[in-house]
Amino acid sequence: MEKEIDVPLLKNLMIRASRRAYAAKIQSGDGGNLSLRIPGHDGILIKASGCSFGDMGHEQIVEVDFDGRVQSDSSSKPSRELGTHLAIYKARPDVDAIFHSHSPWATAASQVFEAWPAVSLPLDLKIGEVPVVDAGDGHADSDAIAAIQSLLAEPGKKNLRAFVQRRHGIFCMANTIIKAEHDAELVEEAAQIAMLVRLGGRI
Ligand SMILES: [Zn+2]
Repeated sequence: MEKEIDVPLLKNLMIRASRRAYAAKIQSGDGGNLSLRIPGHDGILIKASGCSFGDMGHEQIVEVDFDGRVQSDSSSKPSRELGTHLAIYKARPDVDAIFHSHSPWATAASQVFEAWPAVSLPLDLKIGEVPVVDAGDGHADSDAIAAIQSLLAEPGKKNLRAFVQRRHGIFCMANTIIKAEHDAELVEEAAQIAMLVRLGGRI
């Protein structure tokens, strides 16, 4: 029997993470998305398509099972990056929340550096390696999903906390949505530092 879960509380946490990301300017407009596993249930909550982190409400969060079927009676559609989120949860049973943003410094740095440079001690200590994934022009399609699945299957990547898809943005994986959003802020900050160190000619 499935446990009783406080879904409104989970949605409140997603809204808190979203508003923080919008205020921190790591995501503008209606881009980016986030999701979390519903504990004890066969499904996730995910941001709806076409809404903004800045003013998302409960009605813009959709419940979906692991086959991608919408479970809630919401009229909102799940994010178009639903397939990417489901692929990550399937590959990583230890991950309970995913935060994804089209953050400007990380998107820029992913086109300058072949590998994410170690220029931020806090990033090294708190997150570790942040690989850059190439998926051509794939954005939430089967090519992007395959590239991410292949990254997560690499030896030594089983505890990976974050990666950046080139020309796209940051993906952070954590045990809570608040932690995943904090990690995205740190990745974005490290990307900004990397670009400034490059500007200073040191890397
Ligand atoms: Zn995206």
